[in-house]
Amino acid sequence: MKMRQPEIKRTKTVCTYCGVGCAFEMWTRDRHILKVQPVPEAPANGISTCIKGKFAWDFVNSEKRLTMPLIRENGRFREAGWDEALDLVARRLLEVREAHGPDSLGFIGSSKASNEEAYLTQKIARLIIGTNNVDNSSRYCQNPATQGLFRTVGYGGDAGTIKDIEQAEVVVLVGSNTAENHPVIAARIKAAQKLRGQKVIVIDPRRHEMADRADIFLRPNASTDLILASALSRYLFDHGLADMEFLDQWVNGVEEYRDSLEPFTLEFAEKMTGVSRQELIETAEMIGRAGSVCLLWAMGITQHSHGSDTSTALSNLLLVTGNYGKPGTGGYPMRGHNNVQGASDFGCLKDRYPGYDHVADEESRKRWAEGWGVTPEALSNEPGKGNFLMVQAADKGDIKAMYIIGEETAFSDANTHNVLSAFEKLDFMVVQDMFLSRTAEFADVVLPASPSVEKEGTFVNTERRIQRFHEVLPPLGDSRPDWRILTDLAARMGHDWGYEHPSRIMDECARIAPMFAGVSYDRLAGWNSQLWPVAADGTDSPLLYTDGFPNEDGKANLFPLEWRMPEETTDAEYDLSLDNGRMREHFQASNQTGRSEGVWQQVPRGFVEVSPELASERGIEEGTWVRLTSRRDSIELPTVITDRVAGKTLFLPIHFGKFGINTLTGEHNDPDVQTPAYKETAVKLEVLSKR
Ligand code: SF4
Repeated sequence: MKMRQPEIKRTKTVCTYCGVGCAFEMWTRDRHILKVQPVPEAPANGISTCIKGKFAWDFVNSEKRLTMPLIRENGRFREAGWDEALDLVARRLLEVREAHGPDSLGFIGSSKASNEEAYLTQKIARLIIGTNNVDNSSRYCQNPATQGLFRTVGYGGDAGTIKDIEQAEVVVLVGSNTAENHPVIAARIKAAQKLRGQKVIVIDPRRHEMADRADIFLRPNASTDLILASALSRYLFDHGLADMEFLDQWVNGVEEYRDSLEPFTLEFAEKMTGVSRQELIETAEMIGRAGSVCLLWAMGITQHSHGSDTSTALSNLLLVTGNYGKPGTGGYPMRGHNNVQGASDFGCLKDRYPGYDHVADEESRKRWAEGWGVTPEALSNEPGKGNFLMVQAADKGDIKAMYIIGEETAFSDANTHNVLSAFEKLDFMVVQDMFLSRTAEFADVVLPASPSVEKEGTFVNTERRIQRFHEVLPPLGDSRPDWRILTDLAARMGHDWGYEHPSRIMDECARIAPMFAGVSYDRLAGWNSQLWPVAADGTDSPLLYTDGFPNEDGKANLFPLEWRMPEETTDAEYDLSLDNGRMREHFQASNQTGRSEGVWQQVPRGFVEVSPELASERGIEEGTWVRLTSRRDSIELPTVITDRVAGKTLFLPIHFGKFGINTLTGEHNDPDVQTPAYKETAVKLEVLSKR
């Protein structure tokens, strides 16, 4: 007799990869993921997705998934039950705090976990342990962009929505390989170009797909974007193209800022950036005469030793041209991870409670203390350390214990050698993850966590859009959702919060954080979403700054800047500049995409892009193996010869090898936010052979 197949189940979820936040139905039968079905109601993406969202889900049922807690004993891991593992973690964290004080512990929350899980991570750090040493991977990518927005306009998120980007007259992409890293947004721009004649300006050292489609493509020398943006601002003032009405009404510091532009002449910009005077003028004219401009930027700007300043310069340019607060305008840092925006919004930051209340602000501290039922003195008002400084402090012996959730710090942090040395020195380390990651190999306890499709929760996408996702499958084996693990751990440390569902965590956060006052699971039901800030009556904010800016006088601030040399530069020995970034088919350390065979096979191994000029100068043929040596270490890999890169710039995708690019990168970083300057890496190249 033929057995009846179980029913196909359709469940709404949100993509676990990039910050576009594509939502779709996932069709499953038992544990089989049959297909991803986009639907028109999905607010960020409609019926669009990319290769990762559509096909990169094999990792969910991978046989490499962790299904039991692991405890290190005599140098090896053994399987353990949850009670034993959580008791051990609770006891050791409290012992370290007792012996060395609260700031001897550090917590790294996950930019892939939910908002509710980010909230619990920082609540454990702040309320139970008493430290602000809590952060997420935005430290490695987008903190400089947020800093630039804080300095100028006030909110640490995109000014508007993907619809605004679609309807802008001009879109400027700076240091953003949008077609590969945010494919659905790139598709919207391409459609707007075709259907509405939208103009696109690309500013990037690399000739990527959007550069080929651009109306203007500028290829400035590395680390000179601040000069370029400031020269455009100066030109706009000098030629009557600054929006003086907007500036008079909405912006402070105009005269001081204008004075600060004095050095940024077209001559200086041409000399430093390598972009011709004529191209600079054409760009300024196109931006200055447009009715609406959206400016998108990403890690090509932020991962430099002056990423905060360059982000600020870009936001300054938008203020000069009045491009905030109207449909089709604004600054858009393109968030990388699916929930890197939410992890920061919900408090995994060294100096901010959920909703960006500063830890040193007494009123905020009082409100959070009241919300959590303690006295204000129970919460530290000293900003903590971010990821990068926590790891450095561990290497110096100042941080004794770390708790890392879903982050591949051993792969992602700069200068791998220091990171591994720091991990070796820790007295106690916990990793909560789906896989025995490179980071987990150093842990004393590994707790098996569930991916988004095995739990309930919410994410925030790059537009500030909060969306719910649902349990598609039950947790695999004995793995558990992070929010359950953290709730159980807190109870073992004397704080029985009793959350039975993530909605209760969101309710608590909404009660305390004004930014999320009207957020609730009911209002997020179905395909509904809310864009923060959300008023108590549920009114959300698709477009920011329509009634002014969130500063005391309701105005934005122009922020004067000086250009500084990059921290690491080329010289006679290390004569090549190493650029790096992501590819459409892969994601970060490839822990997920690398376990999705069909996607991985599209580009199965690493390579370095070499310009035709350099190839000819050094006798390199397509596929020739080369050794790249930085001031830290060497790697060997094959070459691809392409005009995507020019002159003495190389490009290396970050996804391959045990430690990606980071055996080569150094510890120089942005002094404002301590984001490592991954893009400022000088190398030398030796030709090996064709293997
Ligand atoms: Fe959408 Fe990004 Fe996921 Fe692709 S990776 S489906 S663009 S959210």
